[in-house]
Amino acid sequence: MTEPLLRVKDLKKHFSVKGGVLRREVDKVYAVDGVTVDLQVGETLGVVGESGCGKSTTGRCILRLIEPTAGEVWFEGRNVTAMDPSELTALRRDMQIIFQDPFASLNPRMTVGAIIGEALIIHKLTQSRQEFEDRIVELLETVGLNADHMRRYPHEFSGGQRQRIGIARALAVSPKLIVCDEPVSALDVSIQAQVINLLEDLQGKFSLTYMFIAHDLSVVEHISDRVAVMYLGRIVEIASARDIYTTPLHPYTEALLSAVPIPDPTMKRERIRLQGDVPSPIRPPSGCHFHTRCPIRQLPLCSTESPELKQTRDGHWVACHLRE
Ligand code: SF4
Repeated sequence: MTEPLLRVKDLKKHFSVKGGVLRREVDKVYAVDGVTVDLQVGETLGVVGESGCGKSTTGRCILRLIEPTAGEVWFEGRNVTAMDPSELTALRRDMQIIFQDPFASLNPRMTVGAIIGEALIIHKLTQSRQEFEDRIVELLETVGLNADHMRRYPHEFSGGQRQRIGIARALAVSPKLIVCDEPVSALDVSIQAQVINLLEDLQGKFSLTYMFIAHDLSVVEHISDRVAVMYLGRIVEIASARDIYTTPLHPYTEALLSAVPIPDPTMKRERIRLQGDVPSPIRPPSGCHFHTRCPIRQLPLCSTESPELKQTRDGHWVACHLRE
């Protein structure tokens, strides 16, 4: 196996909860609690889990849009977590993000051309006004828009078109890695497939590597090479997309998968309904974080000992005492 493009080692992000008159720290939110994962060049890693599982915070810590509390991020052999601000600015050319909400992530006062061109100016990627405008037109056409859209404002576009503008903005600096942070969650189902197809086409065209974050398994099924399932700040299972969909091992993955509709109406899959909501990441449950909802838990083992993420077969990793 070649050196990974991205290496994440024991990444943690704990937010302080402040209280009292003196606004002292009274608790912590364990948003990301020891994530270790690699991404190979040209790979798409799907990252799934319910709201609050830490998947978006993980993506943002990797890009250092949020400062991690602990752990390391390495990109092409460079330690991202140790970079100073000027090194980070240079790194932004290689690592980009597409945000979930195409309505909130585009400045309503800027034209589409100015939004896409901002990074071209910051990184001094064009030498003349003409080259600048030609590059913006090229980017618009790459994502299925056209030159006329350059002088319009975000409110003049549909949700799907706005997400295309967000994608063009990310592509402007010719990145190697894009963190796609729930890029289709805010879109209609009919538009979701178009945006996913566009991302797949762009990956082939520009040799992109994706971390594709979503809250359910059906969205990442076709685009992912591997899938990581997160629960309360930790990866509980990671394997090839095929293994996750055909032979999931973790009871949480099984429950998520049971909610994915099967296209063949003659086939039935029994729905596994988990009890309750995801517990708060403030003081998460002891032992295995999932034990309060797990249909096969064994007490006291599961409530006292935290299962390690272990390899069970080639490339398939799971964190469960009973599925080793
Ligand atoms: Fe369920 Fe125990 Fe496995 Fe956790 S370790 S997933 S509680 S069986």
